Amino acid sequence: MQWKNDADCAVLLTFDFDGETMWESRVQQGLGDFDTPPIQSMGEYGGAAGMPRILDFLDEYDIPAGFFVPGKTVERYPDLIRRVDDEGHELGAHGYSHINPVAMSDEDELEEFRKANEAFEDVVGDVPVGFRSPAADMGKRTLDRLIDMGMEYDSTLMGSDVPYFIEAEGKEIVEIPWFWSQDDAPHFNFNMYPLVSYQSGLSSPADVRSIWQTEFDACYEEGLLFHLVMHPQIIGRPHRMKMLEDLVQHIKGHSDVWFARPKDITRYWRENVPENERDVRTV
Ligand SMILES: [Zn+2]
Repeated sequence: MQWKNDADCAVLLTFDFDGETMWESRVQQGLGDFDTPPIQSMGEYGGAAGMPRILDFLDEYDIPAGFFVPGKTVERYPDLIRRVDDEGHELGAHGYSHINPVAMSDEDELEEFRKANEAFEDVVGDVPVGFRSPAADMGKRTLDRLIDMGMEYDSTLMGSDVPYFIEAEGKEIVEIPWFWSQDDAPHFNFNMYPLVSYQSGLSSPADVRSIWQTEFDACYEEGLLFHLVMHPQIIGRPHRMKMLEDLVQHIKGHSDVWFARPKDITRYWRENVPENERDVRTV
């Protein structure tokens, strides 16, 4: 695939800025007593330390990125959200309270979208054009709703190495895929209490860099989309950011790479993939 400016590879850095909703949503769903200060402070780290470090890093390397943020986190950190917007990054929808849509009624889901949009509107005067589901899960109802709402893209599914289209009732949405191996959470997420099901411990950054760099090299050779999914409360720790910086220096050593925001990739894909070559799917 030839990307914008004849680039051989598109590079997308996305960050899910969950903050305290990571644990609040579990309390809200009756999954346990996770509102104790030590547990909550793991979410607080994302806003207090991770986000400023990530934004400084993106500024230093002149990289535009995408941030998917629950409405509650938008309300809690308006200055950080304005900074994300002011510095040219994209804000994406990520629910209001970070509850899995599959666990919600139709009416509750609609209310989540309404409250999240209100939060974005209040803080940056605009609403997102893309969505990533909290908890990496959703049903057909949510996809149909995104299409119905006129969202330009979703970034929750994992069905390809490049964007594709999901169609429902004659309308379509672009899907920007990702995969767990390029997500920081399975590699680095660690909690003594409560245990989370997908944690593999405190991986060495060198091991993770090896996976991510090999993936980038392969995406570059094949002309694909290299997409990292990260969380400020996880990747934002100093030793992990050092690894990300080393990886970005490796990527920047290649001249024909396009660093883009999710909506840039969506619009490029929609405008440049010929109708008869589109990968269109239904769910
Ligand atoms: Zn999330």
